[in-house]
Amino acid sequence: MSSRFKCFILSCLLLILLLLMLQPVAAEKQNQKLLQDQKLSQAIDREIEKHRPELIKIRRFLHMNPELGNQEVETARLVATKLTSLGFEVKTGVAVTGVVGLLRGFRPGPTVAIRADMDALPIQELNNIPYRSLKPGVMHACGHDLHTTIALGTAMVLSSLRSRLQGNIKFIFQPAEEGLPEAQEGGAALMIKEGVLGDPPVRAIFSLHVWPELEVGKAGYASGYLMASSDNFVITIEGKSAHAARPQEGIDAIVLAAGIINNLQTIISRYLDPTEPAVITIGKIQGGARANIIAEKVVMEGTVRTLNEGIREKIPELMENIISGITRSYGAKYSFRYLKGTPPLYNHPDLVQAMLPALELALGKNNVVAVKPQMVAEDFALFGERVPVFMYLLGVRTPGVAQAAPLHSPYFNPDERAIPVGIKAMCYLLLEALEQQAAMSKSEVSDVIK
Ligand SMILES: [Zn+2]
Ligand SMILES: [Zn+2]
Repeated sequence: MSSRFKCFILSCLLLILLLLMLQPVAAEKQNQKLLQDQKLSQAIDREIEKHRPELIKIRRFLHMNPELGNQEVETARLVATKLTSLGFEVKTGVAVTGVVGLLRGFRPGPTVAIRADMDALPIQELNNIPYRSLKPGVMHACGHDLHTTIALGTAMVLSSLRSRLQGNIKFIFQPAEEGLPEAQEGGAALMIKEGVLGDPPVRAIFSLHVWPELEVGKAGYASGYLMASSDNFVITIEGKSAHAARPQEGIDAIVLAAGIINNLQTIISRYLDPTEPAVITIGKIQGGARANIIAEKVVMEGTVRTLNEGIREKIPELMENIISGITRSYGAKYSFRYLKGTPPLYNHPDLVQAMLPALELALGKNNVVAVKPQMVAEDFALFGERVPVFMYLLGVRTPGVAQAAPLHSPYFNPDERAIPVGIKAMCYLLLEALEQQAAMSKSEVSDVIK
């Protein structure tokens, strides 16, 4: 090898090393540009404080008037009225009762989005609070009243910063996150089908879920998987009835059901890699007529959760092998319906990495904590199959309270002081994401010109 060639290789290596060293510095500088702007952060704090009383009123109104999936008529009206008054371009009736508002910045540029879900649950509220649900059997037990309020608050604050925006922010208010009867379409899937991610195309979407395990002021994040997939199933076993004292003349569907229930758990404990989390739960079982008759029929319903798409694909077949094996060996019949629901929720690692400094700046570095993936599910995952997404968990537990009621509990009662925290976090994330996307677009354009 000639010395000139060696010298050339060495300079190349040095150049690469220099570029690698400069990259994080450049990224950091970019963050500092926007987020270190004292005036901007003061303006955000001022705006949040200004709107806080109105936002608490909005949250309490939503809490008192909860609406189930695809019936969020009053909620959607409130959201659309507010967004229109802020001067947004507003579309209503998206995916039945959804609302989409577009905030256009003074300068044209890319579009980033925030998504909030609006639906309540069929649960009777048992909290004794002045703003408890007025609708018997319906309650905001998953905190979607806070999600809607936080997104509206973010809209109010960012609309006052329009002159600073290079690009657009799309506000997606989604109906029916909690699922619908089988025959109905809705939620994130229908919003996507109706084109919510286009016109203008969305480059990244942010969302949050209130989290009673975390204190107010804190946020939890996961890079990669945050939540599991969620599929449902129905198993029907048909045996033969007989006198309870003459089992030899019947086929006992209850005994077969017991065998199936126990054996399904061996899929988790014996079939799957123990380092891969998965859950099979039978949550409902119905069968039999009375104490002295062998049961002819048992119907069981349940859910499957996992963080791994490969395992998700395998589980239905493993389940059916067990069900058919047990029923066949006793001469019973069965039917098995497996209903695919939402995929695992995957936070795009590059987006999380790029956005974490903004979240830390908004809430304080010590208040942003890494969390393990959760086995609950969110249909926000469907957006994540098409666009990079980042959902984080927002603390709503009152400081000093050891344990707060969990999500979907009739006692769920998030601390409202999380509302301004959520708004600040969302403002920082959206502003930073827009700035980064605009910078990327510029470099794309200059690449083309070159
Ligand atoms: Zn829920
Ligand atoms: Zn929820």
